[in-house]
Amino acid sequence: MPVDYILTTCPYCGTGCNFFLQVADGRAVGVVPCKTDETSAGSLCIKGYNAHAFVNHSDRLTHPMIREGDQLSKATWEEALQRIASEMKRISDEHGPDAIMVLASAKCTNEENYLIQKVARAAIGTNNVDHCARLCHASTVAGLLQSFGSGAMTNTIPEFENADCILVTGSNTLEAHPLIGTRILKARDKGAKVIVVDPRDTPLSRVATISMRQESGSDVAWINGMINIIISEKLHDEEFIAARTTGFDELREIVKNYTPERVKSLTGIPEDDLVSAAKMYASADKAMIAYAMGITQHSNGTNLVRALANLAMVTGNVGRESTGVNPLRGQCNVQGACDAGALPNLYPGYQSVEDAETRSKFEHAWNRKLSEKKGMALTNAFDKALTGEVKAMLIFGENPMMSDPDIGHVERAISKLEFMAVIDIFPTETVKLADVVLPAACYAEKNGTFTATDRAVRAVRKAVDPPGDARPDWQIACDLGRLLAGDGFDFASPEQVLAEMAAVAPIYGGIDYERIEEEMVRWPCPSKDHPGTKVLHTESFKIGKGVFAPIEHTPPAEETSDEYPLILTTGRNLFQFHTGTMTRRSAKLQREAAGPYVEINTEDARRLGIIDDASVRITSRRGTITLAARVTQWIRPGTIFIPFHYAEAAANRLTNNALDPTAQIPEYKVCAARLEKA
Ligand code: SF4
Repeated sequence: MPVDYILTTCPYCGTGCNFFLQVADGRAVGVVPCKTDETSAGSLCIKGYNAHAFVNHSDRLTHPMIREGDQLSKATWEEALQRIASEMKRISDEHGPDAIMVLASAKCTNEENYLIQKVARAAIGTNNVDHCARLCHASTVAGLLQSFGSGAMTNTIPEFENADCILVTGSNTLEAHPLIGTRILKARDKGAKVIVVDPRDTPLSRVATISMRQESGSDVAWINGMINIIISEKLHDEEFIAARTTGFDELREIVKNYTPERVKSLTGIPEDDLVSAAKMYASADKAMIAYAMGITQHSNGTNLVRALANLAMVTGNVGRESTGVNPLRGQCNVQGACDAGALPNLYPGYQSVEDAETRSKFEHAWNRKLSEKKGMALTNAFDKALTGEVKAMLIFGENPMMSDPDIGHVERAISKLEFMAVIDIFPTETVKLADVVLPAACYAEKNGTFTATDRAVRAVRKAVDPPGDARPDWQIACDLGRLLAGDGFDFASPEQVLAEMAAVAPIYGGIDYERIEEEMVRWPCPSKDHPGTKVLHTESFKIGKGVFAPIEHTPPAEETSDEYPLILTTGRNLFQFHTGTMTRRSAKLQREAAGPYVEINTEDARRLGIIDDASVRITSRRGTITLAARVTQWIRPGTIFIPFHYAEAAANRLTNNALDPTAQIPEYKVCAARLEKA
């Protein structure tokens, strides 16, 4: 049987590896790495190797459905689209367009996210559009915008290999971003020092030069402590600070109070380790910081990101190759969804919806009057559904019934909505509650682009046809846009959509399909003759000077008590991905990490009489779940860890929806809990 090989981009993490999807008899049957791909360098992780498996799964949604009583019944596309459009129009007429919330998706392409936010803004008339970046890196966007003027990774993935020192915090890199983790290991083999700060021992921390296990929620303290040591030891970069930054004196005053002794009392990190790590990071010629959701998912997440920016700027580690502050974005296109404007306060290309001149530019481009009011974050939308301010939701590819904190709260909020439409590829926990369901094409069944965590725009190419009547989200968004707005949505291909996005978002101005066929282009790329940008902030910051933020340690929103004596933190494992909708439909990945578990330290387990694999009940102030105990020395005593992939024991039944006041990101990483034998 002839086999085709279609070069495309991995649908899992934000690393953005390219691979060949093997196609036989119209079906995706395998994955082969691409040796010439700069990002993956001819390797893949286990999720990438199995990225074909869910495509053909029999659970795929194949036809539109409309709710009739308790049942979702088969409908035609015309019936389902008309029902969505008529409900959106009715609710907008009765309550105003801001009674509608639109969720875009980090699994959709740039072109689809551009169209979804255009549906919200130009067809419905609201800036209420958001996506799951709110749940993972909203604090990165807010924090790095304030410190540097750009909310993205400052450097690129291949640069990790040439760093002299890499500080990794809040990231289980070898499991969550395996191909970035591999680059860090290569750097280590070439002599780079690796510092890992994490409450759990991760595969990377076990081979790090220095590994420090801090108490969850204490990160400002150790970062300020490192800066204090660096300044005291005169290892700071005076020239860089004087020429390129503001606010250093205020920062120096604040960090003076973070002596190694005080940091130990706040974080549990031994003084000697902190001093060694500070000297190691500051003495390196090229030092990189990599972080992920262990930093961002806190009620002070924006401050934590800014604290890391302080650390990089104090040592002059910004604006050069193999330096910088590097957020590792979680999903295949979470970077691109932000770039495309699927955010309530920003148009495509990070342009403020509250700026009159910018708004006028978009009104002209889209031929519509646009809302002057900043939209609602998705984390606020469920609160507003409970109070009746939000009446309807249009959800593309998100599964808030698994992914959002305090699922009981989400469930109550959804039950109050007058209408909810969900567009997805599988019958997720959220799909089951919808009034209308539309079946979408997955990454293997459409053309488009994803933007990787290092701002590289990568091609997604159609390899097979969608199952049944499923359609690509870009076509669905165009159909809805036409029904709601009449014009402005007549695109014949994703290529035409990217051309419109490039015309209104200057950071994508020089990016088109022809170019990305030939070369790896990273934004900002304002014109066709611009080479794209690998390293940000080389000569100056986008806001002129980098801004130091004097930040004090504050405790997490929820602390332990006699009733809830443990700190629960959540994350991923190597084999599963996010809410498990795709990886749990891959037999090989499911075989390796089949069911839910909680990691508990050996000492805690002994004290509670828990043995390995025992069934345990975990309770927080919001709910209870039952799952298997995994007794391990790799986690701090007093802390427990649950991967958030498993619907049958969803960690987010327990997590706290306390929000960072700037970024509105929830504090997934610290939740007081109790564990007992089930
Ligand atoms: Fe896919 Fe990420 Fe693995 Fe690369 S590292 S193959 S992008 S999951």
